[in-house]
Amino acid sequence: MAYEYTVVKGDTLFRIARRTGITVGELAGANPQIQGSILYPGQVLTVPDPIPRHYVVQRGDTFYEIARRFNIALDDLLRANPGVDPARMAIGTRLILPPSRGMSIVGPAFPYGYPELLEDLQLLQIRYPFLEYIDIGESVLGKPIPAFKVGDGPVQVHVNAAIHANEWITAAVVMKIAEDLSEAYRNGVPLQGRDVRALLSKVTLWIAPMLNPDGVELVQEGLSAGHPYYRQLLEWNGGSYDFSGWKANIRGVDLNDQFPAGWEIERNRRAVAGPGPRDWTGTAPLTEPEAIAVADFTRNNDFRLVLALHTQGQEIYYTYRGLEPPVSAEIAANFARVSGYTPVANIESDAGYKDWFIQEYRLPGFTIESGKGTNPLPTDQFPAIKREVTGILLEALAAAPDVEPAGE
Ligand SMILES: [Zn+2]
Repeated sequence: MAYEYTVVKGDTLFRIARRTGITVGELAGANPQIQGSILYPGQVLTVPDPIPRHYVVQRGDTFYEIARRFNIALDDLLRANPGVDPARMAIGTRLILPPSRGMSIVGPAFPYGYPELLEDLQLLQIRYPFLEYIDIGESVLGKPIPAFKVGDGPVQVHVNAAIHANEWITAAVVMKIAEDLSEAYRNGVPLQGRDVRALLSKVTLWIAPMLNPDGVELVQEGLSAGHPYYRQLLEWNGGSYDFSGWKANIRGVDLNDQFPAGWEIERNRRAVAGPGPRDWTGTAPLTEPEAIAVADFTRNNDFRLVLALHTQGQEIYYTYRGLEPPVSAEIAANFARVSGYTPVANIESDAGYKDWFIQEYRLPGFTIESGKGTNPLPTDQFPAIKREVTGILLEALAAAPDVEPAGE
């Protein structure tokens, strides 16, 4: 039986469809009045029943092949057909096809926000029990900031994403890559021609997919009436309800201007008077819990190489005031080869995460400006960015230096 659903804050068609087990198309089809408009809390939608589907087994079919063809997880197909022995399926057997959650877990689902991230993390961990995840801290609004590891090698590599709110596509990208890596690792198959098992027996990759969850939520969902920073955010955003240009955390601090590496220089260069959508360094380095979380996480581990994933520009920043090791240029050139991005040696930048990492450890640190256009990037760039960043990440795993950090 179809039923009524009342929209709550944060709902998108995708989120409701996913929660109710139907497709976005089915949900939109049952609610023609919402065409092209944004959902608002209190709005009542009709949630239709999932359309039941069947498939009659043909000569030569295998259970696995059918699951693949209909984009259904093997587990789901098995569960929906408890009386069927996958090894001896008679021609003419009528199989129930459960709703497709996709063979894959991560998207592509946009907007990709904090709820999607948490759900995907949970599902990934069920499918790939070797993934271990922890919280590295909490955002200003109390959201746990997750990080998880793939691989079990002695050399640690770290990648983080979505430190800038309107660059949230980077969270979807690293999550999807984590899934691809996990699948290749489990099955012992290559990814972009690389032997993932060999790489991940040398390296442990720590992924922090969304460092700024409050900011991502603001960009994706806008300002809701009960928001604890309602008045400030509106003021800091120049009175506009359009937060698509918002990069900062929820206190209007640009988290990538928060690190103690030339922080005063950055503050003077930015010359921003106070909280706002971007470029406000805060009143001192490391005042914001999200920046503190990733700094502490870095200090508590032994990362030999780090990548900070941003959008946009298709560029690779690999220097910091000449403190980077010589091998950084070589690694950046290899990143460029596999991604088509441009290595950029000298940019006017201080107080960024990679700046601080290079200064503290004299090890290779990179800011990857993926994709090209105006942030938030159009989501049709997702496949290309995923391919390019996969190449860079695999190269990073191969290149991670197995040496003692200098300066200790
Ligand atoms: Zn950025």
